[in-house]
Amino acid sequence: MPDTALGLLNRVFGYPAFRGRQAEIIEMLAGGGDAMVLMPTGGGKSLCYQIPALLREGCGVVVSPLIALMQDQVAALRELGIAAAFLNSSLSPRGAAEVEADFVAGRLKLLYVAPERLLTPRFLQLLAQVRVALFAIDEAHCVSQWGHDFRPEYLGLSQLHERFPQVPRIALTATADAVTREEIRARLNLAEAQLFVASFDRPNIRYRIAEKQDGRRQLLAFLRDGREHQAGIIYCGSRRKVEETAAWLQREGYPALAYHAGLESRVRERNQERFLREEGLIMVATIAFGMGIDKPDVRFVAHLDLPRSIEGYYQETGRAGRDGLPAEAWMVWGMADVVAQRRFIDESEAGDAYKRVASAKLDALLGLVETASCRRVALLNYFGEAAQPCGNCDTCLEPPTLWDGSEAAKKALSAVYRTGQRFGAGHVIDVLLGKPTDKVSQWRHDKLSVFGIGGELDEKRWRAVFRQLLAQGRLAVDHDAYGALQFTAGSRPVLRGEETVFFREASRPTKVARKARAAEAGEDTPLFDALRAWRRAAAEQHNVPAYVIFHDSTLRQIAAQKPATLGELAGIPGIGAKKLEAYGAGILQVVASC
Ligand code: ADP
Ligand code: ZN
Repeated sequence: MPDTALGLLNRVFGYPAFRGRQAEIIEMLAGGGDAMVLMPTGGGKSLCYQIPALLREGCGVVVSPLIALMQDQVAALRELGIAAAFLNSSLSPRGAAEVEADFVAGRLKLLYVAPERLLTPRFLQLLAQVRVALFAIDEAHCVSQWGHDFRPEYLGLSQLHERFPQVPRIALTATADAVTREEIRARLNLAEAQLFVASFDRPNIRYRIAEKQDGRRQLLAFLRDGREHQAGIIYCGSRRKVEETAAWLQREGYPALAYHAGLESRVRERNQERFLREEGLIMVATIAFGMGIDKPDVRFVAHLDLPRSIEGYYQETGRAGRDGLPAEAWMVWGMADVVAQRRFIDESEAGDAYKRVASAKLDALLGLVETASCRRVALLNYFGEAAQPCGNCDTCLEPPTLWDGSEAAKKALSAVYRTGQRFGAGHVIDVLLGKPTDKVSQWRHDKLSVFGIGGELDEKRWRAVFRQLLAQGRLAVDHDAYGALQFTAGSRPVLRGEETVFFREASRPTKVARKARAAEAGEDTPLFDALRAWRRAAAEQHNVPAYVIFHDSTLRQIAAQKPATLGELAGIPGIGAKKLEAYGAGILQVVASC
């Protein structure tokens, strides 16, 4: 009997049912049609081309930009008993020749190829000799200049359609904004492809965003709150900060590694490898780290600096909790981040159109961090999706207190106006607080009517007022004038008292008992620990990361259900036929002995 998509999902992958639109996408591709798939990180994109490749005659060719990702995917497929291989610069000439021979002889079902290799005359010639089941273009946003991962080699991929028009193609990405989407379609020649947009919601991720007071102290409190042995990624805005933060975390006793594009490639690769293979490590990194990191058990992603855009934030935070277990996206941000980014945009060499897009993206992000309502609703709205308050973000869990800031806003705006819209927040606050600084006397701002009228708030709260006025578009920063605060169309109505302004109170750090979190993740039983130890040994023996053997979620289910027979074990999600055969007996032994 020929295999069905669902049959393969059950038997080979060990999963009971398709998620979201996977089944439709697979059907489209298996039937020879093209598809363009927008799905959040961790949404389950790989199955969308792996299963059609198994259903169709020939070998599926997967274009992927990252070597580490290819290796892990291929290792995972082989564990499932699927004939898979990759071709990239990490192979020796001899190794590459063997893979090519297998490919030409029709012995492979899936071949992962780096784009630059795919487009060589040699490989194109091989392709012409082989029956290709489909082309999958992973991380398709790499073709777009708006995506943050533009790769010129991706532009050449439009040739695939010209040369092999009968082979179905699927482009996949987690970057979904309209500009990027259209560019992918145009540049990859995918005008006819059916678009599948999955929900971008990642319900197991809890979002928390707080004002930066003392970033390190806040981070430490976050880590000490039950995250001691969890794997996590900490994003920083600069290479220097990455190195300093990693060194500081090590001094604090945390297993932290560093990753940024300025590190020697050997060090970078080793750190990435360790992060993927070992358990409970913390990677401190710039955004150079992460694309294609599909480690499923990353329990938190922390941002010590503001990302560039909501897309960036969502993609980075999306690396947490791909296994579906509870995970946290945590961020602290401050005014200095915003000012630095505005300057970066203004001073970039790019054209005006780019600057406008970049600036609008930053504004959207500020709207998210300053919102007083559900973070998830704000995020999903940004991606064009309607949603209800989620109950799993900081603003839902501890609704921020709002205060009527109309008077304060009026004073702030007057001070900006009276000082000539020529100064940054620091000086304007000094004026409001009546501080006799050198700058104040130099400009004779102590003679202004606004001097010293702001005594009811302290400096920190005035900072928050200015930040939120910026976030609400009531003020703008002008970098041609050295970061001076200036009026916008939204300023005057407030100044004239025609509009009420609400600000959120500074967020308070919250404590969730660590015991509760451990129990939530279902991880503190001796059996779970024993299963992890068994998995570690199996992973070492097979020379693959632990999660390639089994995900935490599978081990957790085993620990909860305590199967006594192979039949019972087979019913647990994540255990397909091949893995049952390879590991079933071993697992039953661990369960029986605990
Ligand atoms: P993406 O590439 O979209 O980030 P993956 O393809 O790596 O996501 O899938 C994320 C995780 O979800 C993987 O561990 C995968 O095995 C799992 N997964 C995907 N589809 C299903 C499904 N239908 N049922 C259960 N688990 C699934
Ligand atoms: Zn919420």
